[in-house]
Amino acid sequence: MTKRKILVTSALPYANDSLHLGHVVEYVQTDVWVRFQRMRGHTVWYVCASDAHGTPTMLRAEREGVSPESLIERISAEHRRDFETFRISVDNYITTHAPENEELTRRIYERLNAAGHIRRRTIEQAYDDVKQMFLPDRYVRGTCPVCGMPDQYGDSCERCGSTYTPMDLKDPVSVVSGTRPSVKQSEHLFFKLGDFERDLKEWVRDRVDEAMVHKLDEWFRAGLKDWDISRDAPYFGFEIPGEPGKFFYVWFDAPIGYMASFLNLCRRIGLDFDEYWGPDSDAELYHFIGKDIVYFHTLFWPAVLGGAGFRRPTAVFAHGFLTVNGQKMSKSRGTFINAATFAKRVDPDYLRYYFASKLGPNVDDLDLSFPDFVAKVNSDLVGKVVNIASRCAGFVHRLGAGRLADALPSPALFDEFAASADEIAADYEGRNYARAMRRIMALADRANQYIDEQKPWIAAKDDANRDSVVGVCTLGLNLFKQLVLYLKPVVPELAARAEAFLGVEPLSWADAARPLLGRPIEKFRPLLERVDPKAVDAVIDETRSLAEARSQGGRMTTEPKAQPEEQAEIDIELFSRIDLRVAKVVKAEHVEGADKLLKLTLDTGGAQRTVFAGIRKAYDPAQLEGRLVVLVANLKPRKMRFGVSEGMVLAASGDGPGVFLLRPDDGAEPGMKVS
Ligand SMILES: [Zn+2]
Repeated sequence: MTKRKILVTSALPYANDSLHLGHVVEYVQTDVWVRFQRMRGHTVWYVCASDAHGTPTMLRAEREGVSPESLIERISAEHRRDFETFRISVDNYITTHAPENEELTRRIYERLNAAGHIRRRTIEQAYDDVKQMFLPDRYVRGTCPVCGMPDQYGDSCERCGSTYTPMDLKDPVSVVSGTRPSVKQSEHLFFKLGDFERDLKEWVRDRVDEAMVHKLDEWFRAGLKDWDISRDAPYFGFEIPGEPGKFFYVWFDAPIGYMASFLNLCRRIGLDFDEYWGPDSDAELYHFIGKDIVYFHTLFWPAVLGGAGFRRPTAVFAHGFLTVNGQKMSKSRGTFINAATFAKRVDPDYLRYYFASKLGPNVDDLDLSFPDFVAKVNSDLVGKVVNIASRCAGFVHRLGAGRLADALPSPALFDEFAASADEIAADYEGRNYARAMRRIMALADRANQYIDEQKPWIAAKDDANRDSVVGVCTLGLNLFKQLVLYLKPVVPELAARAEAFLGVEPLSWADAARPLLGRPIEKFRPLLERVDPKAVDAVIDETRSLAEARSQGGRMTTEPKAQPEEQAEIDIELFSRIDLRVAKVVKAEHVEGADKLLKLTLDTGGAQRTVFAGIRKAYDPAQLEGRLVVLVANLKPRKMRFGVSEGMVLAASGDGPGVFLLRPDDGAEPGMKVS
């Protein structure tokens, strides 16, 4: 077999938020492939980075009162920890703000510019006069011009699906300052994607899966439009050479981050960058991505690379999205699970195995069903694979002095297992992990069946059978070794423990042909524990309470993206849209399972409504009944785990502990308007 040189990447996670299980699908898919290729003896480099630039990181850093650089360093360190926890074996991990990325981004831009692939055009864009910044479409909200649905993003309506520009909205509002944006002109730089149309049409053949080819044909038919690659200050990113006040759009430098992370690795350990990225590179280059970013990776990215004189990817592998219990991940259902929250309670190898058992080579979505997860892991990994070792190890120690027999009683069975190596390898190579897992579990069934037939526990009762029992168990442990070897790209930690138990060096794919004979094994200790369904429940509970803590009823909390701490000026018209009312607490009670919430029944002057308020630590329910509060009466009702909260009561709080409800002076009546 010829030794291949392979460079692999996963899509770069954005540096303004934690990783969730949807991210983990992609890193597991990539890492399994990488570990498999390493076991085959190929040279494989796997690089990734946190995607640092853009408006969201800039605004979040501002809100937290830190520099964007320190924000992205902090989040990137968290990403690196999560990678480690899930045993994602990247060789290098940086952020796209690294100097290597600036160097490469400038070089690529300058080459594209010199070759005439950049053009200038003046565009009109929504502008926030208070914050003095141009607003990306998602930072303008307002009423849909088509169906009249309020509070929609500036690019499309979630209700009717119409697309439009921010200023088409009725009553557009900047989510940064809360004011009405104006329209301002600015000169932007565009990459002429159309220059590469013929080139790209040729390139995409054999580079992407069938399903994506159709999508790409649609895009080609629609025509390749110029791509806006510049943004005006203030913007967190790299300034464009020769264009003061203009910055590279985050999506321009993000994929260059793949190269930058590799360049950083080359300089660190002395590899040749051009061997992998130069125009004449004979190395293979693969990008693993989600299906939502296919356009960037199969059109812009190869065009940019080709235009700047670099090699293009060998292939781009896209996967589908993760659903949880059959539904989109949701914060309120407790299924928008952070990677770290999960790994704290459940062994990451279990999730790696579960995802592998569901991952095919296509863009189908995959579902994480918790009951199925628990059942599958317990039945496959614990019940089938580890079980064989636990059934055989004791006899080898008791009757064979801890030493495997010198020969196998049924070499044909071992050969059958060894002969599966090629099929399973082909499945891994083609990213059909689901099929590989099915083959491996069929072998596990076969191994257990062999032990069932031989019944060493009965034969062992007669001392005359000593050698044959050790022989049967030696074969059993060899079948176990095969299973572990085939599963190793998926469950590296289980494999490491099994290797220690068998007393072998780290298994490579070539070891599939070699039985272990006449050598000592270690005492068997349980290699895996069954997944406790309670641990999974605890993950969901913690996720749900994290989400609730972020949006407790009754406190002036806002969506992190929607408003900065320091509020900008608003006009009286905007303020008058908030319907504040005096209300009387009729009933206040504890909420089972929520240690921060009180359930308040309020009299609003003839009508009653229920509000959940995050004031349990500060108020005894009995002391609240009969008192007056101030209610935000026209706040959109919010469904919580315990019921619907119909409004919010106003309370003051500061940096220290304590929450203080507002109370109108004596004489005020429920239902009175506050203004
Ligand atoms: Zn609409």
